[in-house]
Amino acid sequence: MPWYKKLHWQIIIGLVLGLIWGLVSTQAGLNRFTSDFIRPFGTIFVNLLQLIAIPLVLASLVVGVTKLNDITKLSRMGGKTIGIYLVTTMIAITIGLISVNLIKPGNALPEETRMELLESYQDNVTDRQAAAEQTMQRGPLEPIVNIVPQNVISSMSSNANMLQVVFIAILLGIALVQIDPGKSAQLVSFFDAFNDVIIKIVDYIMLMAPIGVFALLAAVIIDLAGDDLGRAFELLRALGWYSIAVLLGLLVHMHLVYFMLFKIFSTMKLRNFLRGIRPAILLGFSTSSSAATLPVTMERVEKNLGVEEEVSSFVLPVGATINMDGTSLYQAVAAVFIAQAVGMDLSIAQQLTIVLTATLASIGAAGVPGAGIIMLVIVLNAVQVPVEGIALILGVDRILDMCRTAVNITGDAAVAVAVASTEGKLADGRFDD
Ligand code: ASP
Repeated sequence: MPWYKKLHWQIIIGLVLGLIWGLVSTQAGLNRFTSDFIRPFGTIFVNLLQLIAIPLVLASLVVGVTKLNDITKLSRMGGKTIGIYLVTTMIAITIGLISVNLIKPGNALPEETRMELLESYQDNVTDRQAAAEQTMQRGPLEPIVNIVPQNVISSMSSNANMLQVVFIAILLGIALVQIDPGKSAQLVSFFDAFNDVIIKIVDYIMLMAPIGVFALLAAVIIDLAGDDLGRAFELLRALGWYSIAVLLGLLVHMHLVYFMLFKIFSTMKLRNFLRGIRPAILLGFSTSSSAATLPVTMERVEKNLGVEEEVSSFVLPVGATINMDGTSLYQAVAAVFIAQAVGMDLSIAQQLTIVLTATLASIGAAGVPGAGIIMLVIVLNAVQVPVEGIALILGVDRILDMCRTAVNITGDAAVAVAVASTEGKLADGRFDD
């Protein structure tokens, strides 16, 4: 197959063209056109991905649980998954803290820029604060209560909660293996066929990926730059050290944790890990949403990395909801950066509090764009750093969101490989991209 027909190259071309179009658009005064006629294609693409995520998780997890056919295996896998997710998240936060303490980006922020940023983003801060306030008012056990839905339809509606869908699918799967096999066989083969149908639809949607990615990138650029490209570059430069601290942390975490996990648990070559999930990483980057990317992550992890469906259908949806190493690392860097910028010195005890709260905040963050910065409010409150400080980082947040989402997705894939390997459910991956 010629290189330009390969999916990941098509997505990369879409990305680059979207970036160029966004820049041209801001310079040529075409932002309105881009917003009215290009942005909607990105929205359609993301909607399509979200549309199939819930039925995909439901069907594949029901099939997965019936294949596992054993509740003890299921709970062992669940415990292992959550355990590895927690450990990797805490390592990510520690790496973030080391990075920000070494680079000290807050000390490099000029006073003038600090004042300007605090002023110009003040309104946006209030929105985030209000959203975080709602989360903080919840009782400590509410996240667990929320996993159990009251109503099947609403758990799959527009406010869909992925963990509720996982819960329903596991319940269905367990019950299916316990009733008369003569009766359950029909339903199991229904879910099996339904699963295949959805996977086919993922392939159709991916035909639109280059256009969707083009539109998403163009929209990101015009939102970021507005009509004043020069100011956007200035902002990027002023927050350059902060961005470097986040990006460096993300890179170190990828190498140290995910590559190690893959090396330990898979016999495949390391470069095949990234090659295998390349389209998912690129989509995570373009959409800034782990949840929207989930169908593609599931498809690639199963096909290319050889993780069997029993494992991937559980580990990946749960990961897309609670495992966000990139987000937690970024929250640690952001909290210390803001503290440095406002002249606060965080003690070791406060930094340990960051480890704890950023773990919880990243678990609580939804897999959608900008969720991480809302939950950052909780981290800031815990260490008494002024919440208004998020105005300092809002300007570059979308770009960093793209990067941290790509890392979140890579983390879910690496953990899926590790869990599959320990459960004897890791086959040979094969490449068709
Ligand atoms: N956009 C991230 C994700 O979907 C969450 C965040 O950090 O804002 O994984």
